[in-house]
Amino acid sequence: MNTRKVVIIGSGPAGYTAALYASRANLNPLVIEGHEPGGQLTTTTDVDNFPGFPEGIMGPELMANMKKQTLRFGTEYLQTHVTAVDLSKRPFKITCENGDEMMAESVIISTGASAKYLGLPNEKELIGKGVSACATCDGFFYRDQIVHIVGGGDTAMEEATFLTKFAKKVYVVHRRDSLRASKPMQERAFNNEKIEFVWNSAVSEIIADATGVTSIKVTNTETGEVTERPTNGLFMGIGHTPNTGFLNGQIDTDEHGFIITKGEHPDTNVPGVFACGDVQDSYYRQAISAAGSGCQAAIRAERFLEE
Ligand code: NAP
Repeated sequence: MNTRKVVIIGSGPAGYTAALYASRANLNPLVIEGHEPGGQLTTTTDVDNFPGFPEGIMGPELMANMKKQTLRFGTEYLQTHVTAVDLSKRPFKITCENGDEMMAESVIISTGASAKYLGLPNEKELIGKGVSACATCDGFFYRDQIVHIVGGGDTAMEEATFLTKFAKKVYVVHRRDSLRASKPMQERAFNNEKIEFVWNSAVSEIIADATGVTSIKVTNTETGEVTERPTNGLFMGIGHTPNTGFLNGQIDTDEHGFIITKGEHPDTNVPGVFACGDVQDSYYRQAISAAGSGCQAAIRAERFLEE
């Protein structure tokens, strides 16, 4: 079986940047793209916070450009999904959904994290038209508007607070009557005049017209009463699921499943396996920070192979 120097699993900004650096270092990387080539940015519209694009750029275009840049230096791609890895000895073995198997001297994991959604029928088709799972990315579009955010954890509090920079009113819809968020985050949200809480409530329907979301229906979790609430935007703040299932416990993760990397380096607990992007970052979760960590992972893989 062919042994590659570097196999990169996952293809968002982290994976593409790792591929760029690894290919320019003559490591001939293979990227296994996964089910969502390009990652989360392919489901967003305008990206205004990625440096280098003074007029902004559409998420799918940014990802297509990143991939194109890696192709210039000979990165190879496989459009399949990794189902299993054996990291017990080097070279590591990688098994794909399409039946392909390969060995790798080093592996870079950049499989990202998927924002959790509520599971409502039209929520995915309304992404970019009033539904969002990233306040940092999309908050700017809600200047002087009314928005709702679902969730009671740190993400929801942080994003609700961030949204008050733009929106005139931010409602936090939470399914219970107390928050899971840390005390300082709770305090910050409670003390913000623009934030109001809608307790014991679950979003049961999203209503939209041709322009986008116009209102939501909210069901009281105790009484069952349904109320309709006008809104311009609905943000998901109910957490992220890191895509680590295929690792089958071979890489150390935190209690939420995010890969633990060593200090300031992308090294995991298995020498030769590196992680970058959202799969190891529950804090920043930005395209630019993912790209930066992809660069680090490729440089670490290169030095590891030299050693
Ligand atoms: P989390 O702590 O798991 O909180 C998720 C919240 O969403 C909970 O309040 C949960 O309700 C609610 N929720 C989950 N599924 C739901 C559903 N289907 N419908 C309605 N509500 C639902 O997730 P997180 O807030 O993303 O935080 C994850 C980790 O990252 C935490 O360790 C957090 O401290 C950390 N974090 C830190 C920062 C920071 O320090 N700046 C920022 C963000 C995240 P229940 O409470 O009822 O379960």
